Parts: sequence; C-alpha cells; structure tokens
Amino acid sequence: MSFTELNLLPELVRACAALGYTKPTPIQTSAIPIVLSGADMIGCAETGTGKTAAFLLPIIQRLNKTKSFPGIRVLVIAPTRELALQTESAYRDFALKSSPRCAAIIGGASMQRQREALRRGAGVLIATPGRLLDHMERERLDLSRVEVLVLDEADRMLDMGFWPSIRRVLEKLPSARQTLLFSATMSPSIEKIARTTLRDPKLIEISRRGGAAKTVAQFAYPVAAESKTTLLLELLEKEREPFERVLVFTRTRRGAERLSHILSARDHSVNRIHADRTQPQREAALRDFKGGRTRVMVATDIAARGIDVDAISHVINYDVPMAPEDYVHRIGRSGRAGKPGRAITLVTPAEELSMRGIERLTGQSIERVVMPAFGGTHSAAVRPSKAPSFPGRRAANFGTRSFRPRRAR
Ligand code: AMP
Repeated sequence: MSFTELNLLPELVRACAALGYTKPTPIQTSAIPIVLSGADMIGCAETGTGKTAAFLLPIIQRLNKTKSFPGIRVLVIAPTRELALQTESAYRDFALKSSPRCAAIIGGASMQRQREALRRGAGVLIATPGRLLDHMERERLDLSRVEVLVLDEADRMLDMGFWPSIRRVLEKLPSARQTLLFSATMSPSIEKIARTTLRDPKLIEISRRGGAAKTVAQFAYPVAAESKTTLLLELLEKEREPFERVLVFTRTRRGAERLSHILSARDHSVNRIHADRTQPQREAALRDFKGGRTRVMVATDIAARGIDVDAISHVINYDVPMAPEDYVHRIGRSGRAGKPGRAITLVTPAEELSMRGIERLTGQSIERVVMPAFGGTHSAAVRPSKAPSFPGRRAANFGTRSFRPRRAR
C-alpha cells in the first residue's frame, strides 16, 4: 500500500516523501480512509506508530475540499505541551497552501501571543486542556464551527485528571462533527468516554492492549536499591553496548533533578525534563536532545509524553513505573517507526512486584540480566543470563497485531 493508493492528494504524498515516509504505517493504512470518509474513529495505538500523520493528513485533505471560512474548524486536544507542539509542527509540515492557519494553545507560553494568533484567525487549534479552558473562559473562544475534534492520547488525559475540563469543552462543540479518539490502551473508562462522545465509531487497534513496541528489545537488571546509580553509571560508562541517545525515566521530579546532577558531575552530556521546569527550559532541553547535543535526557512520565525524538537508542527505567501502562508508553519512545531500540529496567527487590505486573500486562517475560556486583541476585523470577548482545535476542517476541475495524458499542 502506498500513500497514493490511500487517495491522498499529490501535494500530501509529496509532503510525506519529503519527510522520508516511503510507505504508510499500519495505523495510517487503516485510519486514513476512515477519517477521509468523515466517520468517527477510535484509534487504539501506541505512540511511535505514526498516528499523528494518520489523522492530520486526511483532516488537511478534508478541509481542502470545502470552501474556507473564518473560525475554528479543527480542534486537537493533547495531554502535554510537548505533544501539542509536535503536532503543530507536523501540521506545518503537511499543510497545503490553502490550509487554515494553526495555533498551539498550551500552558506555560504567552497568553497574549496566543490571543493574537487567535485574533489573526486560526482554523486549526492544537491545545492542552487547561489553557484551552482559560481562553474559552476569558476570551469567549467560539468553538461552534468545529468540524473535527481529535482527542489525542485520551488515556493519558484521563490519568492526568483532565476529563472534567474536556467535558466542559465538549459542551461548546457542535454535535454534528467528526470525532477521533486515540488511546494507547482501551480501559473501561475510555470505552465509556467513547460511547458518550463518539457516534458509531470505527475501531482500529494497531497493537494488542499493553503490547510493547515491536522493535524494542527489553531487559531487566535486578539491583540493590543503594546500587541503582552505580549500576546506571556502569552501564553508561563501560559502554557494553552503544548508548547513543538515552532517555532515562525517574518516578519523581526530584529524582530526575538528582540523577541529572550526578550524571553531569560525571561529565555526561545530560539534561532533564519534568513538570517543575519552565516551558522554555523544556523546549531547550528537547531541542538539544533532538539535535544530538545532549546524549542523556532524564525525564518523568508526564513530561516525556509526546517526546518524539528519532533514534533514541535506549530507554532506561531508573525506577520501575507504578502503572504497567506507563512502561509501555516509556519504552515506546525508543525504536520508533521501525527503528531498533532497547529498553533497560533497573529493578530493586521492592519493585519486582511492579515488574511482574508489567510482564502480565504485556504478556511477555522480560529477560533478567544479573550483575552480582550490584546486588542483582534477588527474586525467584530471575533468570540469570549473560549481558545481552546487540540487537537483543528476544526482540522477536514483540508482536504487533492488527485488527480489522469493527464497530464499537
Ligand atoms: P507518531 O506516532 O505520530 O508520534 O509518529 C512517530 C514517528 O514516526 C514520527 O517521528 C513520525 O515522523 C514518524 N512517521 C510517521 N509516519 C511515518 C511513515 N509513514 N514512515 C516513516 N516514518 C513515519
């Protein structure tokens, strides 16, 4: 299947080619015809599958079909500023000459500038929920002409407590609209939201619930709690494998700060991204990481959502995430769009239970790499092994199943 066979306009096909997209990803193959048809859709897909283009390309094409008029025609709501900015940048990559202007309405950025962008006339808004409500309340933002609503990473918006805000936004939208909802996982709460917000949606599932990215090889290193930092330094400094671009996850903001300072003191090129950092600081950190000027980025879960950096060679879970779904999101940062990646999780005895929860969710047992010098002898689940070769031997286990679209209830 090619982009042309998906009946996309030649200009859009050319824009894809210019970005190096040679053929559509599975979610693009399934979603583009549905979105073009005007139907509602639930896209159950992990990050890194190409879902942004899967909705932006057909939306741009649909907007091009009808005569342009002032007002907001498309509203994309995303959980984090980073994701919103990335979506805005993707829109600019694909937009046609005739496409409406796009504005990002996100927290931490100048309200005044956003107000001006709205006044100049933005037909496409890409927004985080809090700032969107701010504008709606203060400026009486008119959403009555919205034709397409996209709820991106809806599961995360739910986790972050955004749903009451989104419900208030929904009240202001016309009921005759197309709604597209994307979520990495389909929980009962997401199903309920879909039932109340979407009309007869088509469901496409690109990976099974909790499925890990296909190209990510995963390893767990049992470690004593007091040896975590030394093990991390050992891994990064002894370079058993090429740690080219590394994203390290900590559970807390303070943990991210601490680890980043330790790594910096050891002369690693490192930065951090978490909710206590200002928006310009986050953007600069992301830019340097993307540009290869920083090799290691330390991040918390929420701040890392939407980080779309090519060629992250390794995701290291310094702390095992509490929610197994977060593990799937985290490792989805590496091995994006078919590129190989590796995920390493440092597991203390106290975290072993959470690790088993992850294995249950993903349906995979994650290979343990035991390094006795770091206290890595605990747990009945440990299956000793030698340090893995690159690329990992178990990568073949990672399945991506596609489902034929079926109607959601
Ligand atoms: P997303 O899931 O939208 O965050 O996309 C993940 C990454 O895949 C982004 O860096 C996109 O630029 C890239 N991508 C999206 N579609 C394709 C494609 N058809 N071929 C190659 N890369 C793609």
